[in-house]
Amino acid sequence: MKRTELNALGEFGLIKEIQDNAKLHHSETLKGIGDDAAVIEAGDHVKVVTTDMLVEGVHFDLSYVPLKHLGYKSVVVNISDIAAMNAIPKQITMSVAISNRFSKEAIDEFYEGVFTACEQYKVDLIGGDTTSSRSGFVISVTAIGEAKKEEVVYRNTAKDKDIICATGDLGGAYVGLQVLEREKQEFLSNPNMQPQLDRFEYVVMRQLKPEARMDLIHEFRELGIVPTSMIDISDGLASEILHITRSSGVGAVLFEDKLPIEKQMLETLTSEFENLSASTCVLNGGEDYELLFTISQEDYEKIKTHKDISFIGYIDSNMKGVKLKTRAEQIIDVEAQGWVHFRDSL
Ligand code: ADP
Ligand code: MG
Repeated sequence: MKRTELNALGEFGLIKEIQDNAKLHHSETLKGIGDDAAVIEAGDHVKVVTTDMLVEGVHFDLSYVPLKHLGYKSVVVNISDIAAMNAIPKQITMSVAISNRFSKEAIDEFYEGVFTACEQYKVDLIGGDTTSSRSGFVISVTAIGEAKKEEVVYRNTAKDKDIICATGDLGGAYVGLQVLEREKQEFLSNPNMQPQLDRFEYVVMRQLKPEARMDLIHEFRELGIVPTSMIDISDGLASEILHITRSSGVGAVLFEDKLPIEKQMLETLTSEFENLSASTCVLNGGEDYELLFTISQEDYEKIKTHKDISFIGYIDSNMKGVKLKTRAEQIIDVEAQGWVHFRDSL
């Protein structure tokens, strides 16, 4: 029997194969596998549906992640995929696999975070499943959202000369993770040590308590903007821009000096992790849950002074791949790390 290592296929290779084998039976299924969420026709509007799973030891480490934050984040990462479709989240289901290591109080704390997020994003928890786990804590959330058919924004519709935009700042969640991991190692070698996280509060909170950018989705409606393509930034900018360009059949240019980098993130890198460059964290870090989208030149006029949107590059349909123009005016190829290795953090 032939044996193919998953490493050889990669995360996206595996998904591609599942996608190729999944036959659609219903004309209501407007979009199946291949975007941030599936799109289903539902009368005069469409429903969007997305699922994400979080596994202890792979996606989170309970030695430094408070359960309340974990509950909040499990909801937020799914809302972010609904936002990436330019849709409004309405309901979630949540399934949990729990080991007897957890007390009732611990589960209560987790659900306090879940319900705080449900309140914040006005979504209803409508079901799920509860089961036991022999080892770690596993959480699977499905989110359902709604939009008008013409409002839905896909990954694969970026056009020549569109402007590439990113919300907020990028790379911070990854730097926060580096801080938390380092504090954990220091604590393990000296359990009397008290972690000193005050100086790193912004980046640590980017990692522990991300938000989905529903504020921008509402603003798009107010401004009459429909992005030409959109994706949420869960795996780092490099991976996400390549999803947009490859699926749209276009190329892109990014400018290093336009990448949105926050002050504390930069200070933390300079003082604590001098081997890590800010651009590397932006391109290959992850879990920022900001939005990456493209807009037409006409719509650029409507948001060009927006404080929380950075204009980081443009689409070029005559180009192949994604190029980064560095501060030193060098041109380098942007590649996504996630494409090569079957990483732990699927
Ligand atoms: P995101 O990072 O936005 O959550 P993913 O990269 O996880 O997106 O998934 C990309 C697409 O592949 C989505 O449409 C998702 O539903 C689909 N997908 C991922 N894993 C599977 C699977 N095991 N079976 C079917 N579809 C999958
Ligand atoms: Mg996504």
